[in-house]
Amino acid sequence: MRVIVTGGAGFIGSALVRHLVLDKGYEVLNIDKLTYAGNLASLSAVEGRNGYSFLQADICDRAAMEQAVAQFRPDRIMHLAAESHVDRSITGAAEFIQTNVIGTFTLLEVARGYWSGLEGAAKEAFRFLHVSTDEVYGSLGEDGLFTETTPYDPSSPYSASKASSDHLAKAWHRTYGLPVVVSNCSNNYGPFHFPEKLIPLTILNALAGRPLPVYGKGENVRDWLYVEDHARALDLIVATGQPGETYNVGGRNERRNIDVVRRICTVLDQLVPAERPREELIAFVTDRPGHDARYAIDATRLETELGWRAQEDFDSGIEKTVRWYLDNEWWWRPLRERYDGERLGLAEPAK
Ligand code: NAD
Repeated sequence: MRVIVTGGAGFIGSALVRHLVLDKGYEVLNIDKLTYAGNLASLSAVEGRNGYSFLQADICDRAAMEQAVAQFRPDRIMHLAAESHVDRSITGAAEFIQTNVIGTFTLLEVARGYWSGLEGAAKEAFRFLHVSTDEVYGSLGEDGLFTETTPYDPSSPYSASKASSDHLAKAWHRTYGLPVVVSNCSNNYGPFHFPEKLIPLTILNALAGRPLPVYGKGENVRDWLYVEDHARALDLIVATGQPGETYNVGGRNERRNIDVVRRICTVLDQLVPAERPREELIAFVTDRPGHDARYAIDATRLETELGWRAQEDFDSGIEKTVRWYLDNEWWWRPLRERYDGERLGLAEPAK
C-alpha cells in the first residue's frame, strides 16, 4: 500500500504516519511545508525506515504536487495539511484561506488528473481522504450531537475555511467522480501536540508554575479524542468508507475546558508534587469572539458501519499525555523556547 500523507509533520499527521509505517507497514510519502506547526522531530521513530520518505513542499504548489504524485504513484492520498489554530485564524485569516481552501483545491485537481489516468483495479481502489473538523457544524446548545447530516454553520475563519474545503472535496466527487471520503473529527489530544494548544499549554505552564489561561469561565464544552484513536479511524475510513460519504469521528468524552484544566492539575500534583495545588494557577481571560459553546460528535456511523471504537478513555488518555510531556522534554523544550511569549495567552483547543 502506497500512501501520500499531507501535513505529516503536524500533530495528527505525525501520529498517522507513525501508525501507517510502524503498525501497518505501508509505504508513505509525507508532504509537508514545515510551517511553525510542522516538526520532523515528531517523526524520529520512522526516520530512516524503509518505505518512509519526506518531501518539503507547499500543497498550493501545483507543479510540485503533480510531480510528487506522478513519481510516487499512490494508492491513497490522505490530506491533513492545514492551518489549524482558531486564534491565529482570527488575527490572520489569509494563510487559512490559502492553505485550507486553495491548497485543498490544488490537491483535488492534482488527484483528479492522476486518478483519471489510472486504469482497472488501480482506478477502482484509489481513494482521497479529506480530513476535517467538527467545527464546520458550528455550535451546539446543551443537548444534541453533530451527525453527518447536521447543516454546516462555521463560526471562525478557521472553521469557515475548513467548511469550504469540505464542500470542494464533496463537489469533486459529485462532479468528477473522484473517490473522495470526508472525515470530521472532534478535538484531539495526546503526545507531540504543539505547546500553544490547551492541553500541552496547561501541562507545561503548570509544570513551570505559570498562569493557566482559560477563556471566559471555562464552560465551553469540547469532545476529546486521543490522537492515536483518530489515526486508526482515518486508516479505517480511507480503507472501507464509501466514496462521497462523510464519517464523524469522536470519543464520546465531553468535558468543559475548566474541567480539562483541573484534571491536568490533579494528575500533575500526583506525579510531580508541588508546594501548592496547581489549580491555584488558573487565570480566566477575556473570551474569544465567536467562541462556540459546545461541540459533541455522534460517531455511531463510524462505529456501526465500519466497526471503529475509541480505545482510550479521557482519564487514562490525559494521564498518558501528561506522562509523555514529563518524559519528552527534548521534544517540547525547543518549541516552547521559540514560541513562548508570542502565544502564551492562547488557551483554546484548536482542531
Ligand atoms: P497541525 O497544525 O499540527 O499540523 C498541520 C501540518 O500541516 C503542519 O505540519 C504544517 O507544516 C502543515 N502545513 C500547513 N500548511 C501547509 C501547506 N501549505 N503545505 C504543506 N503542508 C502544510 O494540525 P493538526 O492538529 O495535526 O490537524 C491536522 C488536520 O486535522 C487539519 O486538517 C485539521 O483541520 C484537522 N483536524 C484537527 C483536529 C485537532 O484537534 N487538532 C481535529 C479535527 C480535525
